[in-house]
Amino acid sequence: MNQVPRGHKPVAADPAANAGAILTIDLGAIRENYRRLKAKLGNTRCAGVVKADGYGLGADRVARALMQEGCDTFFVAHVGEGIALRAAIGPGPVIHVLNGPPPGAEPDAVAAGLTAVLNSIEQLSAWREAAKVAGHSLPAALQVDSGMSRLGMSPAEVEAVAADPHALDGVDLRLVMSHLACADEPRHPANEAQRMEFDRLRAMLPAAPASLANSSGIFLGPSYHHQLARPGAALYGVNPTPGQANPLRPVIGLQARVIQTRTVGKGAGIGYGHTATAGQPQRLATISLGYADGWHRCAAASARFDGVELPFIGRVSMDSIILDISALPEGRLGPGDLVDMIDAEQTIDDVAGSYGTIAYEVLTSLGHRFHRIHIGA
Ligand SMILES: *Cc1c(COP(=O)(O)O)cnc(C)c1O
Repeated sequence: MNQVPRGHKPVAADPAANAGAILTIDLGAIRENYRRLKAKLGNTRCAGVVKADGYGLGADRVARALMQEGCDTFFVAHVGEGIALRAAIGPGPVIHVLNGPPPGAEPDAVAAGLTAVLNSIEQLSAWREAAKVAGHSLPAALQVDSGMSRLGMSPAEVEAVAADPHALDGVDLRLVMSHLACADEPRHPANEAQRMEFDRLRAMLPAAPASLANSSGIFLGPSYHHQLARPGAALYGVNPTPGQANPLRPVIGLQARVIQTRTVGKGAGIGYGHTATAGQPQRLATISLGYADGWHRCAAASARFDGVELPFIGRVSMDSIILDISALPEGRLGPGDLVDMIDAEQTIDDVAGSYGTIAYEVLTSLGHRFHRIHIGA
């Protein structure tokens, strides 16, 4: 059972040909986006945020591409992500762990040479203890809450740290940082308020390089740049300036394979729940992509083939979507053909808009079932 018959040569698998959908990731475009952000930043250093596996695109591949542009500082969210990234990119670059080590995870973070982002007095104390155990000082960033109420030390905690001469014993303070809540809304008054509060809080702490801007923060202007910027989304082609033209290059393309085509008569119910009904004889194609691939069930979008738009019809299924292909010449599209799902016509920002979310969620949802092709390395 399950044995290759004697004398039978196994045929080399072609993962691209077998795949239901193909995600193309342009590492060259990521590098170009890094250069564009750097040009915007002038003398400010530019890190790369590669949490959540590089927003779903492969943290190791992305980090190595950015290193070729001279990037030597990265941010991940979890210790585990940091350990994996360290193994992939070697000992040189700085890897910050944004969420800080959970209690007890400090030795693992130390062993991987990670820089903890300390968000609370508890995380600071634990890092200080870890330094004692290690017998040498440990690198850290201190995050202050300048008004987002998500992560970082409160003003009272910052005051407590400032008042305690031993608070930072064994802690090699490399960065003081904070995060903007409304950076993608340039006219929101919270931006200026957070910037002022950040200045006030860090003035209480020992001098260290400062970092406030994420992708959108970079576009708020030089007063938000400080010494280090922390873009993630913009590197991956997400528009950091909603409502304006995207200043960055698209990074991903997604194509899905046609499984079968059919013609249905007037009145035929289409897909789960028969949410659509053929109003006339209609030609349909079913493609190999569904919500299990991270394409949300409530997305009202379309595919393209030969430049012709092919709207979704009926509900998105787990592994498939039905397209109305009546606009194509009969026989033009058949099993095995690839239709475009994310491209210049339908960007990640457009897909996000079609189900009321942001492109960040589109990227990080994209399933690991796709065949991935990295180009431009
Ligand atoms: C995710 C994150 C970033 C990157 O944000 P983008 O909007 O993707 O550029 C920067 N800083 C912190 C603290 C983050 O959590």
